[in-house]
Amino acid sequence: MTKVISSQTGNKKYFLTIENGVATDCTCGDQHFRCHVKGNPAHQCKHILDSNREITRAAAFLALKARIAAAEREARVAHRIAFELMMGL
Ligand SMILES: [Zn+2]
Repeated sequence: MTKVISSQTGNKKYFLTIENGVATDCTCGDQHFRCHVKGNPAHQCKHILDSNREITRAAAFLALKARIAAAEREARVAHRIAFELMMGL
């Protein structure tokens, strides 16, 4: 998948490559030069780092949201059981 991002300092647009939920490449000058010209495959430009931080935060948020929803479901069941016990059902 490709994500289009805007430059933080100008009018340029860059294309981020996202594979399996992780940003792996970018078309900016920094990534092109250090990774592809200088041959450092481990280099990650600020766009890749920012995007992966954002993805990690979103995943943590979704996991927390799911835990809250599960806790709310359990609380509703507990209330229902308490009500049924109180009513002698
Ligand atoms: Zn970049």
